[in-house]
Amino acid sequence: MPNMRSQSVHRHAGRGSPLALLILLAGCGAAPQSEASRPESIPAQAAMAVAADEKAAAMAPEADADSEVAAVVQPVHVHDPAFAKGARHYSVDYRVRFLPSEGMAAVNIDLKAGTGHLSRLDFHMPASRYQAIEGDGDIEREGDRVIWKPPHKGGELRYRYHIDHQRSGGGYDARITDEWALLRGDDLVPPARTRGTHDSYAHATLHFDELPAGWSAETPWKPAHGGGDAVVNPETRFDRPVGWILAGKLGVRRETVEEMSVSVAAPTDNAARRLDVLGAINALGTEMQRTFGRLPPKLLIVLAPDPMWRGGLSAPRSLYLHQDRPLISENGSSTLVHELVHVISGIRGVKGEDWIAEGIAEFYSIELMSRIGLLSEDRRERALEWMRNHGRNVKTLVADSSSGKRTARAVALLADLDAEIRQGTDDEASLDDVARKLTDAGHKASLSDLRELSAGLLGHPSRVLQESVVE
Ligand SMILES: [Zn+2]
Repeated sequence: MPNMRSQSVHRHAGRGSPLALLILLAGCGAAPQSEASRPESIPAQAAMAVAADEKAAAMAPEADADSEVAAVVQPVHVHDPAFAKGARHYSVDYRVRFLPSEGMAAVNIDLKAGTGHLSRLDFHMPASRYQAIEGDGDIEREGDRVIWKPPHKGGELRYRYHIDHQRSGGGYDARITDEWALLRGDDLVPPARTRGTHDSYAHATLHFDELPAGWSAETPWKPAHGGGDAVVNPETRFDRPVGWILAGKLGVRRETVEEMSVSVAAPTDNAARRLDVLGAINALGTEMQRTFGRLPPKLLIVLAPDPMWRGGLSAPRSLYLHQDRPLISENGSSTLVHELVHVISGIRGVKGEDWIAEGIAEFYSIELMSRIGLLSEDRRERALEWMRNHGRNVKTLVADSSSGKRTARAVALLADLDAEIRQGTDDEASLDDVARKLTDAGHKASLSDLRELSAGLLGHPSRVLQESVVE
C-alpha cells in the first residue's frame, strides 16, 4: 500500500552533521526572546510549501488507515488489559464541534453498551467551564461534579466547553479564535469516576463534526476504522482523548522517526518553524530511543503564536511549544527537548519530588543536544556550569512544583550522579540506566527509587544522593 507520508529515518549520531548545521543556521539571527522577530505573515514561498503539505496531509489519513489501525489492536509498549481474555467492552464516541463565535466547543459523549456497559459516570465539571449539560438518563450537578446515569443501553451526554484559559503568569494555555483552536483533550472531556459491569473497557473514538470551512484537526491519536481517531489509553478503562488538539487552518509537516509518526502542526498564517522542530526530532529520535528505551507510536507537536503562553507544555503523546521559542536557549538548554523528555519518558515525581521529573527533563535537554552534536562539549559544560551557578543558593529540592533555580539545582545534582555512576562502573552504566528504569516502571518516581536504582548500578549507596539538598 502506498504510504503518502515520508518514511525516511535519519540517523545522526555523529557530531556536526549537515542537518545539525542547517538547524543552527535556521536559528541564527532570531533574538532569544524574539518579541520583535515575528513577521506579519509568512513569505509566499513558505506559504506555498505549507499549502502543499496540507494537501499531503489531507490525503494521508486514508492512505495510512489500515497500517495505522494495527497499532490500536496491538499497543506497542504497554500491555493493554482492554484486550485481555474475558474483558468486556462498550463503545464511546466523542463528537466535537468548534464554535469560534461563542468561544466554545460543543461536545457529545455517545455511549453504547456492548458486552459491558457503564451505569454511572461522575465527572469533574466546574460550571465555569462546562455549561448547557443535558442528555439521556439521569444528570445531576453536585458542586463541581456532574453525575450521569445513562440508560442501560447507553445514550448521549451533551455539553459546551468554554475553551479560553489564561495561566496565572499571563498567556493562554487554551484558546479559540476564528482561525484556530488549541486545547487539551483532557479538559474537553474531563476525568470521570465510572461504575459499570466488571472488567469493562471503552472502545473510544474521537470525531470532529462540521469543522468550519478550511479547518482540519490534529490529535495525538491515529485514524480508526470507520472514521475518527482511535483513542487508546492502556492505563485507564474509560479512555478519554487526552493530549493536545490543534484545529483550524493548519500547516502540518509529517515524518516517521524510528517508527514514531511525528506531526508538527501550526496555524497557516504564522511564522512557525515547523521544519526546525521536525529536523531536531529527526536528529534526536535514535538517541531518545536509546536513552529512554521507547518512543510513543505517535507524537504531535503544536506550535502557536501569541497570545498563547510563551513556553512549552507537555501532555501524553504531544506537546505545545510557543512558536517563537528558540531551539536552543542562550543558557544551552532547550524547551523543545525538555518537553520531549517529559512526553517520551513519562517520568513524574511523587508529591514533593517534582525535581526528579523537572531535573531529568532539563538535564537531558542539554545532554541529548550535545549527543547529536548541536552543543559542543565546551558549550555542554558551560550549560551545566550555568545550572550549577543558577541553583547554587537552593537549600532543598523538596517542593510540590519545581522550576527555575530549584530545577537548575536538580540538574547539577543529576550531573554529579551521572558522573558518580560512570566513574563507579568504569563507564559501563550512567544516569541513562536510571532514567530508562524509571521510564519502564511507569509509576511516580521518588528519591528512594533513585537511591535504589543508583545503588543497584554502583554496588553501594550513591554518595551524591546523600546530600542534604535532597531531604
Ligand atoms: Zn518540565
